[in-house]
Amino acid sequence: MLADTHAHLQWTSFDRDREKVLVRAREAYVDYIVNIGFDLNDSIKGVKLAEQHEGLYATVGIHPHNAVQLDQNVLNKLRELSENPEVVAIGEIGLDYYRDLSPREAQKKAFEAQLLLAKELDLPVVIHDREAHGDVLEIISRFRGKIEGIMHCFSGSKEMAEQCIRSGFLVSFAGNVTYPNAHKLHETAKWTDLKKILLETDSPWLAPQDMRGKRNEPSFLPLTAKKIASLKGIRPDELAAATTKNAEAIFKFK
Ligand SMILES: [Zn+2]
Ligand SMILES: [Zn+2]
Repeated sequence: MLADTHAHLQWTSFDRDREKVLVRAREAYVDYIVNIGFDLNDSIKGVKLAEQHEGLYATVGIHPHNAVQLDQNVLNKLRELSENPEVVAIGEIGLDYYRDLSPREAQKKAFEAQLLLAKELDLPVVIHDREAHGDVLEIISRFRGKIEGIMHCFSGSKEMAEQCIRSGFLVSFAGNVTYPNAHKLHETAKWTDLKKILLETDSPWLAPQDMRGKRNEPSFLPLTAKKIASLKGIRPDELAAATTKNAEAIFKFK
């Protein structure tokens, strides 16, 4: 049994075959899928999808690309949505200095406002950090002991993973850990405590090596699990059991 802790199955790229994608996920023993909000509409779609399917859950939040959209009205709507039992976290939130699609000041403001919301609601957060490690660490360190969460699609060093873990975070690995030249990430996955690891696909992006170039989907998750198990020198079923347990603990799936 596996948990895909970060997917975007509400996206239009799944409109024509979403049901088949879900059947293939089940066949691959991916029994939990958390669909992640990107903006308000996308968050609403994720919650609806979770209501319709057993094993599907949702997070609600405004991605740093859309940070300028976050005003008091949107924040109130996110708060209302999060009352739904299908909502297991606030996210994805954070900073993206690679694409810089919203001004950095707006990104920081939206990130902090949503961290405060998560603290108020006692929900974990799903963090997107792209080329913004320093500022992300600085901001989350201010919430140490008050907020738990996940660093999604982790791309940092093992030292950074340790720092995130000390701040109360889990580290989630995506398909890029299967890329042959991802040496730094291989080291990180090898040395990160099994109790602090989650798995994700980030579907429809980041397909694992054997599927590279294709639309990613949850049924490809076992490829990522296999790679991390081999890096750690354990059996894939051990890794699956541990990471599923970690996901159940942080998201409190109902
Ligand atoms: Zn992301
Ligand atoms: Zn994402």
